[in-house]
Amino acid sequence: MASVIDRLLRNAQGFEIALEASSNVPSMRVTIATCMDSRIDVFRIFGLTLGQAHVLRNAGGIVTDDMLRSLVLSQRLLQTREVILMHHTNCGLHGADEEALQERLRAETGMVPPYAFGAFDDLDASVRAAVRVVREHTFLPHRDNVRGFVYEVETGRVREVV
Ligand SMILES: [Zn+2]
Repeated sequence: MASVIDRLLRNAQGFEIALEASSNVPSMRVTIATCMDSRIDVFRIFGLTLGQAHVLRNAGGIVTDDMLRSLVLSQRLLQTREVILMHHTNCGLHGADEEALQERLRAETGMVPPYAFGAFDDLDASVRAAVRVVREHTFLPHRDNVRGFVYEVETGRVREVV
């Protein structure tokens, strides 16, 4: 059975770009952290091109330890100064049952994963919590411009929360 990956690799064959940004420092000095949702086109939404911003993504756009690790490196090694945290409507984690998910995995495997999945009930509250965690993270030198948003996948609208 042909996998999707084979199809994508065929698409990638012959892919070439003329890289305009030679520096690995994002020219706009900004990091955008958001969900892995396939409907969020970060570059199009914010009018970005390659070389301008760091983009960090995971399920939910949750500020995990690994998200913080990347943010710290983004600021300390690669000179970014501002942070956009963006969650979105119709997220897979919105209203998910964290305990039921953990319990199902335990029943299937006999083990519990060493991480939380980050299910949440209140979208705006989850954005505020994410912003708070980043603003309070001592290892980040630039915490003045950390702002939180909701992306409405139905309309493409970006709404500021905090
Ligand atoms: Zn999501």
